[in-house]
Amino acid sequence: MHPLYAQVDRDACIACGLCQMLAPELFDYDANGIASYTPDQNTGSISLTPAQAILFKKAFSRCPTGAIQHSDQPFEPKEKPRR
Ligand code: SF4
Repeated sequence: MHPLYAQVDRDACIACGLCQMLAPELFDYDANGIASYTPDQNTGSISLTPAQAILFKKAFSRCPTGAIQHSDQPFEPKEKPRR
């Protein structure tokens, strides 16, 4: 299996809450409802486990804006880590 890294493009998130509902282990949202990928504080630096990948794909396929992103390589650092 290829490595899989995940990140939410918070600028593209419309705070619909779907990813957190579908995969609460992977996504959470801030006071404004904007989601982030929580296992690595939305840095996209830690590869998902196979079990996480299954959950991730559910949320990824349902995100209405494409804000949930994935890559087979770690994401470039672009924002401060979030909790
Ligand atoms: S499903 Fe997409 S648009 Fe909805 S809260 Fe999650 S990242 Fe944001």
